[in-house]
Amino acid sequence: MIPSKYNIVSKIKDSENYFIVNSLHGSADILEPELFEQLQNQQGNLVEFAEKGYLVDPAEEQKLFRKKYLQFLEDREKDEVQIFFVTNYSCNFDCSYCYQAGYELPKQQLNRKVIDAFFTHIGQHFAARRKYITLFGGEPFLNAPAHKELMQYIIEQSTLLGIEVAAVTNAYHLVDYIDILKEGKIREIQVTLDGTGEMHNHRRPLKGGGATFDRIVKGIDLLLENKISVNLRMVVDRENIGNLPDLAQLAIDKGWTASPLFKTQLGRNYELHECQANQQRLYTRLDLYQDLYLLLQQYPHIGEFHKPSFSVSKFLFENGEMPEPLFDACTGTKTEWAFDFTGNVYACTATVGKEGESLGTFYPIDQRFNEAIENWEERDILSIPKCRDCNLALICGGGCASMAKNYNGELNSHDCRPITELLELGIGHYFKD
Ligand code: SF4
Ligand code: SF4
Repeated sequence: MIPSKYNIVSKIKDSENYFIVNSLHGSADILEPELFEQLQNQQGNLVEFAEKGYLVDPAEEQKLFRKKYLQFLEDREKDEVQIFFVTNYSCNFDCSYCYQAGYELPKQQLNRKVIDAFFTHIGQHFAARRKYITLFGGEPFLNAPAHKELMQYIIEQSTLLGIEVAAVTNAYHLVDYIDILKEGKIREIQVTLDGTGEMHNHRRPLKGGGATFDRIVKGIDLLLENKISVNLRMVVDRENIGNLPDLAQLAIDKGWTASPLFKTQLGRNYELHECQANQQRLYTRLDLYQDLYLLLQQYPHIGEFHKPSFSVSKFLFENGEMPEPLFDACTGTKTEWAFDFTGNVYACTATVGKEGESLGTFYPIDQRFNEAIENWEERDILSIPKCRDCNLALICGGGCASMAKNYNGELNSHDCRPITELLELGIGHYFKD
């Protein structure tokens, strides 16, 4: 027997104890120092260590890996597909960190022919899959009458076809769209709020200037009143992280956090394709979680507003078991696609609209760029050289393909996640009692 290739062992933050997790075998334990020593030296209750998969016969482990890999591929074929539809790249906001700001705006405009071609395409190519559509921009909910009519048409068509619609919006015109949304089959609306009034208005003003906070808050209230789910996203960096306790308090005071229709996410502001004007304010993934760990200790009410994942720590805490092994973290071309109003098809929102990233077209003609698609489809922890021998692989899943390409110049390469360090923090946070 030897230690499993997938053991992740380290010391828990602010504790004398250690943790061990093993995603392939679905085991996790907190180890007191003596037990940790025993495991390290392969002494003590070796039978129990073997039962939990911390000590293994390598040939047996390889068999289990194969079995779970095939299961993962099979399950993914049955997963729901998220189909993004970019209705325009223009936006009425001038956010200080917008990664799309450097994109050249196409000359085409959304029209009914493109929308019809989109529905025909997904009807043909995703007929057998469970799916939902997410409207994306730019800003999809612009208030020009012709555009609004087209948005209404998309929502009506989806509803007729029984396909749920979600949207990612800056939420400024939600008040003008609520009547259309009320009639649709709406899964959720993702709204970005970067803090309380002053901070948010500073980071996310209207183009040409002007506050946006109050209208967004009103839009969120309206959605919840109309029983439409809200996914509130705060894009965080060092500039606004200090405002998180105040935003959390605002959401609690408004009664949002008490609603089962309200959830939150923290989006790390990171360099995507365009250079950020102010690089120093960006967080690495680990730095962000380190600050969140401290903030949660100082302001526990943040936990009512948002519970950070700290890799699989939150899952482990809430479910009492490990998630299934993740052989591929990237959903692009597998359970995610992105279409835009110019008629192009992309793998996901990280590549949509980016020159050289199109994987085909659905309008005016339907065509697939097979080689490029296969390149995306084959990417997982077995195709990425660095991931094959990585003990973190079944939690990390190889990271984001688009980021990997940005950093390493090729898709089939690694985008490493600081899994061990995140678990040190997260197990420290969630299991401190
Ligand atoms: S490339 Fe990155 S952003 Fe796109 S689906 Fe994959 S993980 Fe997500
Ligand atoms: S991307 Fe990096 S951390 Fe993730 S599995 Fe591959 S080598 Fe390991």
